[in-house]
Amino acid sequence: MSEEKDAYEIIDRNQLDEYRENYVCSKCWKPLGFSPVIGTNSKKWKVFCTNKNCDGRGFHRKYWVNRQRENDISDKIEADFNLRDILFPDRKKGTNEEILKRLGF
Ligand SMILES: [Zn+2]
Repeated sequence: MSEEKDAYEIIDRNQLDEYRENYVCSKCWKPLGFSPVIGTNSKKWKVFCTNKNCDGRGFHRKYWVNRQRENDISDKIEADFNLRDILFPDRKKGTNEEILKRLGF
């Protein structure tokens, strides 16, 4: 059994650099893998996700993925703050002065 997953796109050789540099898997956001299509004299290449546990079939631009990650981090920080009494029920509370004192100010 081949370890290579089913390709979800066939591209021309001259598109390899663009795909390698600019795209990741649309499902797991891991790097894409490439292998030549047999019988095409390496003019056509298969594109697949390198994550063996992923069945993603598509691409996203790395630029878009990086922006999504930044938004996700921002959303996480906001959610942690808004849910702080539920997520961290044992945290020490206090006045602003008490908090600043605990922080060493
Ligand atoms: Zn994937």
